[in-house]
This record gives sequence, structure tokens and C-alpha cells, in this order.
Amino acid sequence: MTMTRKKIVAGNWKMNQNLFEGKQLVEDIINSNFTLEDHQEVIIAPPFIQLSLAAGQLKDKPGIFLSAQNCHQKQSGAYTGEVSAEMLKSTGVDYVILGHSERREYFSESVELLAEKVDAALEKGLKVIFCVGEPLAIRDANQQNDYVETQIAKSLFHLSEQQFADIVLAYEPIWAIGTGRTASKEQAQDMHAHIRKVIAGKFGGTIADHLTILYGGSCKPDNAKELFAQPDVDGGLIGGASLKAADFVAIVQAL
Ligand code: PEP
Repeated sequence: MTMTRKKIVAGNWKMNQNLFEGKQLVEDIINSNFTLEDHQEVIIAPPFIQLSLAAGQLKDKPGIFLSAQNCHQKQSGAYTGEVSAEMLKSTGVDYVILGHSERREYFSESVELLAEKVDAALEKGLKVIFCVGEPLAIRDANQQNDYVETQIAKSLFHLSEQQFADIVLAYEPIWAIGTGRTASKEQAQDMHAHIRKVIAGKFGGTIADHLTILYGGSCKPDNAKELFAQPDVDGGLIGGASLKAADFVAIVQAL
């Protein structure tokens, strides 16, 4: 089927950059020379404290969107230290990353909790970049397809087709995150094709064909092009390399 799927490069800054460094990084990205076609997007996901400032910087910058790295499953209440989807939306945020392996591991976020967070985000009009991916032991046992399918089914299969239209999936094998070890282009393509098949089985072929599936895990300027050239890889979720404007922009240009 010929169709133009949305292609995205998203930068997940994690817990890096103070307010001033972050302001400069956004400015450096904005001032870099890259052009985006209509079906291409750049997303910047800084820490919470940066979002309001970045929203101002990105105003009137077509094609560059803002994401949070997390949100709470409730919209308000006595949850000290938490930030809701409602608050993010009011700040000018477009997306939220949910299901990142660091949140699953270090903050014990279960598939059930993630389903609630997805609901809270969609309810307030945020789009969700939902991360899935297997640990090394699962890859070594060749059980990665079932593992990722279960992650998707348990957190996303309760959604309606209409809700699912606001989901972007990111395949991030845990053994490739921050390790310098990238999935080969064949490993990435095989998993992305599997994910698309799983989505087609649940939501139908048209929705699966329109789904943007990002690859994440040690994606760098020198490997982005061959990864993005795979038919089911629609861009990348970038950690470490999103902290240097030149590297991040080079990855954007690989789109
Ligand atoms: C990530 O954590 O989303 C990620 C892809 O990190 P890195 O690019 O540093 O491997």
C-alpha cells in the first residue's frame, strides 16, 4: 500500500540539562539549518522544568513539537511531586513519553499503570509516544516478539481505534539503550514489522499502515540513515545523541 506515514525524530533528554543549558540547546536546534517536509516532525522532550520556557521558544516553529517524559495517571489531587496530563496540556505540550524502560525499571511502572497513564494523556488531548522493548535475556532466548506483543496488548489494546490514532510506538531494546550497542537494521526491521502485524491484528490494516514506529537505542548520526531506511522504521527516539544540537540535527537530516 502506498501512503505517507508520519516520520519523526524525537529527543529524550532524560534528567539532563539545567534551565539555562536547556534553553541554549533548544535555541541551537531551532537555529540549525534543517527543513522538514509536511509528513516529518521533530519532537523535543526536556525535563518538566524546561517545558514552559521551551513552549515559548517553539511557538511559530512549524514541525517542531514538545513532549514531556512522563505524566501522572490522575489529573489532579494530593499526589505530591507529580505532574498531570492536564498541566502538561496547559503548558503547550503536544506529546508525552510513556512506558520508557527506565520508568518501568526504576519506578516500577507496570503495564496496568501505564494503561491508566495512556488514558489520562489521551483524555487531555496529548499524543503518546509509547515505548516497548525487551531485556537482553529475552532477546538471547529469542522471545522478543511475544514479550513486546504482551507489553503492547496489556497497555494499549483497551483503546478505541480513534484513540489509537494518537499513539506513536517506539521500539527500544533495553540492551541497546545508552550502551552504544545498536540493534542491527535487520533486527530493528524484523521487530517493527512484527509490531505492525500485531497492531493490524487488533486495530486493522489501515491503522497499522498509518502507525509511526520509532527505533530507539544508541541511534547516532552514523547509524540513523540505515535504520531509517528500513521500510517499517519511521524515525527514532534519541537519548544521548539528542543532547548535542549538531548530532540531533544530523539525525533529523537522516529522515
Ligand atoms: C532512550 O533512552 O530513549 C534512548 C534511545 O537512549 P540512547 O539513545 O542514549 O540509547
